[in-house]
Amino acid sequence: MLNIGKARIERVYGQSRLCADVTLNGHGTTLWLGVPAAQEAYLSVGRADPFVMALLPAAMRGGHTLVCEDPMSQRLRHQLRDDLMSALSSVGTVYRPVPVRGPLTESPCPSRGAVGTGFSGGADSLYTVYRHGADSEYPLTHLAVFNSGVFEGESYRENFRRACGAAEQFARERGLETVFVDTNFYEALPERFLDVYSFRNLACALALQGLFAVYLLSSGHDIANFHFDLHNSASYDPLTVSCASTEGLTFYLSGMEVKRWQKLEALSDWEPSWKWLHPCIYGGAGGLNCGHCKKCARDATTLYALGTLDRYAAVFDTAEYRKHMAARMGFVLANRGNHLYDETLALMTARDVPIPPAAYVYEKQFRRAMEELSTSQRKDG
Ligand SMILES: [Zn+2]
Repeated sequence: MLNIGKARIERVYGQSRLCADVTLNGHGTTLWLGVPAAQEAYLSVGRADPFVMALLPAAMRGGHTLVCEDPMSQRLRHQLRDDLMSALSSVGTVYRPVPVRGPLTESPCPSRGAVGTGFSGGADSLYTVYRHGADSEYPLTHLAVFNSGVFEGESYRENFRRACGAAEQFARERGLETVFVDTNFYEALPERFLDVYSFRNLACALALQGLFAVYLLSSGHDIANFHFDLHNSASYDPLTVSCASTEGLTFYLSGMEVKRWQKLEALSDWEPSWKWLHPCIYGGAGGLNCGHCKKCARDATTLYALGTLDRYAAVFDTAEYRKHMAARMGFVLANRGNHLYDETLALMTARDVPIPPAAYVYEKQFRRAMEELSTSQRKDG
């Protein structure tokens, strides 16, 4: 049994933290989600929702009944039980359905009616901002940064703070507000981040039911590539996101109607993206992309194929890309079979973008290196 105690507010280090004591088989820890003290009123105190969402994968993996002392939104429990858990337990053996017990409420949390989305500077995130301007159904009011485990390593809180600073600057330029949620998920929940990150991001948004009426989660895949990869929770976001809404907060999966290259094509005509596009896995938005990591290689090659890479000279070293183009394209070729790379290659074929012969030599080298890495990981595992 996984017990979630009544949530309370604790004020520490200038933060207001929504805390709940969590007990599993007699062992306890405290899970918290914190916002700057001035934003304390945004926290949905007295709702079990964010804690249930954050702990759902662990409960389903271990087969633990979730018992909540605070009320949970009725709509959320219905969707998690009848839709999400049923579906996840029907694919593979990782997850099984578990009972969720405790009081329910059907009254919406009073909110400020805000519309939010996460900001990272990546193509998916920027596309959501681009699509939700003043003339859209849900014009954005807030950009969010969630420290739900994406920032890793010893200085992960410093990286979180840097990401918040970049979001603040971009928000100022766009006339938007910001909200930042820090958590102790990284320390308290020993899970592989890719397996569970959608649950954690939704948990952070559910902690802000005093602020948001609508939250737009940016899709990393287009709907045609919906699939159940239980080790990449974003692969089945269309299901998870549709199951996360409560009586007062509606979630939408934003950008699943288009492919990644189409997002980059649309962004290429949107000037703010020229200095803010940041797909890089290193550093943070607002700075220069490294140009050679897996996301940089893919997105820079896509922009090159679109003929718009030079518009991004403020964030990509375009001369460096051209100098190492054979290697970057070789990396894309080596990742054939992954739909995001296949899209880039299909675009290059459709636009008659020549691939230098040396790219095929690099492709072989990358493939060999990837095979060696996966062999050594299998041995370690
Ligand atoms: Zn990079």
